[in-house]
Amino acid sequence: MTTIPTVKLNNGVEIPQLGFGVFQVPDGETATSVSAALEAGYRSIDTAAIYGNETGVGRALAASGIARAELFVTTKLWNADQGYDATLRAFDASLAKLGLDHLDLYLIHWPTPARDLYLDSWKAIEKLVADGRIRAAGVSNFQPAHLQRLLDSSELAPAVSQIELHPGLQQSELRAFHTDHGIATEAWSPLAQGSVLKDEAITTIADRHGKSPAQVVLRWHLQLGNIVIPKSVTPVRIRENLDVFDFTLTGDEMTAIAATDRDLRTGPHPDQFN
Ligand code: NDP
Repeated sequence: MTTIPTVKLNNGVEIPQLGFGVFQVPDGETATSVSAALEAGYRSIDTAAIYGNETGVGRALAASGIARAELFVTTKLWNADQGYDATLRAFDASLAKLGLDHLDLYLIHWPTPARDLYLDSWKAIEKLVADGRIRAAGVSNFQPAHLQRLLDSSELAPAVSQIELHPGLQQSELRAFHTDHGIATEAWSPLAQGSVLKDEAITTIADRHGKSPAQVVLRWHLQLGNIVIPKSVTPVRIRENLDVFDFTLTGDEMTAIAATDRDLRTGPHPDQFN
């Protein structure tokens, strides 16, 4: 079975560099997909309260028989649950649905600047970390200004920043910010939901290596040091997306993909989404 490399976070916790996402997978189908992923060798699963499929994820984890210590489970605090007390309640609800007694990574899903509650939410997350109920804490969709404000006013620095990131949206400013502050970059929609897979730069490289465009894109992420969580409900793609550790992109190939950056967003802009 494939050995997936890990990234050591700023608190010493190790996260698999390649995991499995379940956005838009209906709860009733989630256990089947997550079971296929675990069977293929994935050990890190990325869900969120708003996806409505934490129960399905939990069912697959329980059925897998895989030791809890080998699994890495991420979920996210939804916008409507921001604020100190609401965060504590939402965390308990997520954990109950997942059937777990602790979480590996808990993320604030969006900064929702108009609500202005992420500092309060983070205080609650700091307590959950101190209580040993979360191994690592992070944020998602935070822009540099949101991250800076969080760093300036908190004891605990985020371990992970999960952002939309793929060849069409390369996020060089945010990636540099993360590097400067010891925060690991995790790419959501790492395949741009499929919309970069026909790019000529990518298909040319794929043909050269005898790999698929998706494998080339995932390889590009891994070589940049990004953590990736591709989603698929298709068993052959679930396995394909894991088969990315037997080839290397050259410097010229990395440069060719860098040139396809074009401000392509599959999701909302974090400054405007509340
Ligand atoms: P991805 O970039 O992972 O793309 C998923 C799409 O690509 C699906 O349509 C899938 O099809 C297709 N696909 C997967 N593998 C292949 C392949 N090998 N060849 C061709 N097509 C392929 O998109 P997501 O938006 O799902 O992002 C991944 C994860 O990131 C999410 O599942 C979620 O966990 C997280 N996320 C987080 C967000 C946040 O705000 N923090 C926002 C969005 C996502 P099919 O399933 O039919 O096989």
